[in-house]
Amino acid sequence: EKTPVTLLGLGAMGAALARTWLSAGHPLTVWNRTPARAAALAAEGANAVGSAAEAVAANTLVVVCLLDDASVDEALGAADLAGKDLVNLITSTPAQARARAGWARARGARYLDGGIMAVPPMIGVPESGGYVLHSGSRELFDQHRATLGVPAGTTWVGEDAGFAALHDVALLSAMYGMFAGVAHAFALIRREDIDPTSFAPLLADWLAAMAPSVHRTAEQLRSGDRTSGVVSGLAMQVAGTPTFLSTAEQQGVSPELLSPYFELMRRRLAGGGGGEDLTGVIDLLLD
Ligand code: NDP
Repeated sequence: EKTPVTLLGLGAMGAALARTWLSAGHPLTVWNRTPARAAALAAEGANAVGSAAEAVAANTLVVVCLLDDASVDEALGAADLAGKDLVNLITSTPAQARARAGWARARGARYLDGGIMAVPPMIGVPESGGYVLHSGSRELFDQHRATLGVPAGTTWVGEDAGFAALHDVALLSAMYGMFAGVAHAFALIRREDIDPTSFAPLLADWLAAMAPSVHRTAEQLRSGDRTSGVVSGLAMQVAGTPTFLSTAEQQGVSPELLSPYFELMRRRLAGGGGGEDLTGVIDLLLD
């Protein structure tokens, strides 16, 4: 017998999650503020109910996939959470997640937070690499891991309810830094008769080749030794920055995405980081 699930929120993400539980044979109770979306899922076998409180009352395991933290207050204000296992998958800040954990516990529920590292088409597609970061109640996680793992893989990151949100934001922040570099790279080649679809494989492979450098950075952070394993010294890299800025200028491309990072590299070098690589930039951000 598959664990019954209550799901609140049938937006793009919620509807994708819902369909995986239905396909896997889990009895599913759904509620959505706009009833038409719940009616669509009812046609696929879900039990659609008229209020969030009713949906919560139906099952122990309650998964929330609403828009944001404020919508949880609106939806669950009147619900009885005593004895419930609340799994909150909305994107929030670590502070919001911690406050929500306290709020849930005060109402007698166990609480697990989640950060979805996937877009809706990746849900229910294991080979897509999408997964959900979880933190909070380890007991809840262990008890419901198989059910929670139906839409996407599950990755545990700690008992602190804010850690899923923090990991989520950290990973997406790195992604945006990568997108910034990608934007600059494409801008450089767009000034010439270079086919972007010929350039793209070079770019994707180069980013993949550079990605493992995060492990060296992590080792340096953990050991406190900023000079171990250095392969490309900061002095050499700073000496190279005029080449990047001049090339941008020659191509008529704004350097505004690269300049702030180069400025931090220069500051670290000026502060005595000559024997390091780029890990010292992290120290500057924390100053
Ligand atoms: P959608 O905008 O598609 O859906 C939002 C859902 O929240 C709808 O069910 C909507 O109900 C409901 N809602 C909004 N405000 C309220 C409210 N005040 N009270 C009750 N219900 C409310 O968003 P997604 O489904 O894409 O996203 C849901 C969560 O998943 C978000 O936290 C998002 O950050 C996260 N997420 C989404 C990803 C994505 O790519 N889509 C990726 C990773 C995480 P109604 O139908 O009535 O409008």
